[in-house]
Amino acid sequence: MKAWEKNIRKVVPYVPGEQPDKVKMVKLNTNENPYPPAPGVKRAVEEFDYERLKLYPDPTVGKLTKAIAEHHNVDADQVFVGVGSDDVIAMMFLTFFNSDKPILFPDISYSFYSVWANLFGIPFERPALDDNFRIIKEDYYRENGGIIFPNPNAPTSVYEDLELVEDILEHNRDVIVIVDEAYIDFGGRSAIELIDRYDNLMVVQTYSKSRSMAGMRIGYAVGNPVLIKYLNDAKHSFNSYTMNQTSIAFGIEAIRDEEYFRDTLAKIMATRERTKKEMAALGFMFPEPMANFIFATHEKYPAKELFEALREKDIYVRYFTAPRIDNYLRITIGTDEEMDQLIGFFKEYM
Ligand code: PMP
Repeated sequence: MKAWEKNIRKVVPYVPGEQPDKVKMVKLNTNENPYPPAPGVKRAVEEFDYERLKLYPDPTVGKLTKAIAEHHNVDADQVFVGVGSDDVIAMMFLTFFNSDKPILFPDISYSFYSVWANLFGIPFERPALDDNFRIIKEDYYRENGGIIFPNPNAPTSVYEDLELVEDILEHNRDVIVIVDEAYIDFGGRSAIELIDRYDNLMVVQTYSKSRSMAGMRIGYAVGNPVLIKYLNDAKHSFNSYTMNQTSIAFGIEAIRDEEYFRDTLAKIMATRERTKKEMAALGFMFPEPMANFIFATHEKYPAKELFEALREKDIYVRYFTAPRIDNYLRITIGTDEEMDQLIGFFKEYM
């Protein structure tokens, strides 16, 4: 090791799912939405004046923040917008988790959390989920430096009701509690309704899943204006122009189309129900899925073997090697046709 390397902050990086550059594939590995963004986004793309690219975007992200606030029926000063929820959450780790006491998040949850904690030098502890991949709420009643958990959880797709979220909040009024709701629109109930009662609650959502815009990188947090101001202060001290001209323009159109949003979600949830039945009939077991993916294990066939066999056929699903989950596949809900191809493969293979 070179002498200058010793002061470098080293991290084991997060490993994102593959993004193969193929025209013909069934892509069920990164929880994208199989349907296109709302029609208004298409119009906005076609009408976008490329000359606007010569100007800096609005550093306050004002119009997009306002559109998101209107959608959630909150004030604009209760919303912070960032480059995907990854950016929003990373900014929160940096800003809100500044204690000697460990922050808490479940052992089995979004693997980026430990990466950020390590990168920013934040101590953390990870209470284990129970045998059914549920959060044990009492594990979050001890002293800590802050709490974050996804609801529904990733990669398990398990949803905890608001009663559990509120119990955790009740016991943690003195630290920031972040609920990462990347997948909440697929049947869950958002904790946004609790923000007026808990001034230490931050709820994070994203355009990447339910709004079919993973490629645009838009995420946001909703909560107490005081916390939003702290986040904006950190953002402006770091990189003022986070959102680009196109993500602002297209993001506004996407959040306005409530009908398309509801229709798309209904289609994905119907496909999920059907896929659940067919997979159960094939001998798969899975916790009740409440996100746009199923976290499944098979009684006879090892997950790794299935993952590799599927990949040979250009059907991409996600396989994790971490303890306890290394015999599971995380399968995104695609279109009905895509799920037919997946189920067809399993029927032939088994
Ligand atoms: N939180 C969870 C739980 C996720 O699974 C993801 C998607 N990988 C994200 C946040 C980040 O999503 P994005 O940055 O695309 O908004």
